[in-house]
Amino acid sequence: MIETIMKKFRETAADPLKMKDKYLAEGQKIVLMAPVYGPYEIVHSMGFVPMGVWGADVRLNEAKRYYPAFICSIVQSITELGMRGDYAGASAIIIPGQCDSLKVLGENWKYAVPAIPYVPVVGPQNRRPAYARDFTRAGYERVISDLEKITGQSFSPAALQASLAAYNRHNAMMREVSEAMAALPQISARDRSAVFRSAFFMRVEEHTELLEELLRELKNTRPEGEKIRVVTAGILADAPALLQCFDDNGLQIVADDVAAESRQYRTDIVIGDDPLHDLADRFCRHDHCSVLYDPDKKRPEYIAGLAKQHDAAGVILLMTKFCDPEEFDAPLVRRACEEAGLIVTEIETDRQMTGYEQAGTILETFREMVQLRREEL
Ligand code: SF4
Repeated sequence: MIETIMKKFRETAADPLKMKDKYLAEGQKIVLMAPVYGPYEIVHSMGFVPMGVWGADVRLNEAKRYYPAFICSIVQSITELGMRGDYAGASAIIIPGQCDSLKVLGENWKYAVPAIPYVPVVGPQNRRPAYARDFTRAGYERVISDLEKITGQSFSPAALQASLAAYNRHNAMMREVSEAMAALPQISARDRSAVFRSAFFMRVEEHTELLEELLRELKNTRPEGEKIRVVTAGILADAPALLQCFDDNGLQIVADDVAAESRQYRTDIVIGDDPLHDLADRFCRHDHCSVLYDPDKKRPEYIAGLAKQHDAAGVILLMTKFCDPEEFDAPLVRRACEEAGLIVTEIETDRQMTGYEQAGTILETFREMVQLRREEL
């Protein structure tokens, strides 16, 4: 039964365009959501299907006209897909300017893909003071007003309140399923990734329903085999060939600090009587993230703690090429994890990577280091 449910996650993760075409054929309107943290709840409450866009492993041709070579391949490939028409039919794209590359994406999008209107969303750097919530809220009001103007759909606080509850439910299910998968070594890294990746391409209610089915099955399944438990950290971890290297080396991802995975689901919304404020408040409470300003830099200790809590042997940093926010954090993460007695390794990844032999060798070395350490104990 796990296999039957996993197949649905896999199919969705592998073919987002099919999902886009399905929703459009049903007469639904789609709003594209660029990384990292967009107001999915607002978009959902206005009757759209919010669809995550995190780029793809495509050859970069046209997008090169807009970017220097040293910018991350996520923004380049989002632009390429937009220019070649893969997102045709979408009503708008929301791009949060949470890193310099995303700011550039927004500005370039206006010229590169004029058929799909660009809706910016701006958040505060300093998110702790009370005025940060007002600033965030004002940014969301701008999103609402842009979407209303572009599409004619309207916003209602009551609908947003219902959407906050739907997304909180989904967050909780994602966390529970992640823990349940961690208890079963037979769940492959590729399947774990499909569960996370598919969430960007399905309506939240559908994805939550599938998660509930999966969770029931996972809880009734006995663990099989033994693998080395690891934690991943980075922006993305969805390349099938890279995940295959984890599976080939007997490494089980038991938790993650990946922006496109668990970071999305860590922080729930505290639902009160002002849903827009509550949503802004959630953004201001997001933490342990490379793209969100944190003067105390708590992320390294968070990752080390996550690995310890999940009884992991080590941490694998998946470094997206030219991602400044992650590169700034990497030495601190490495130090905190090593001080906690964990084995740490780093793999540079890129949307356009074709060969993963080097990643395979790094993970093989990592596995041998873990085995050696165990023998020494
Ligand atoms: S990978 Fe890094 S640089 Fe690129 S969009 Fe994400 S946070 Fe920004």
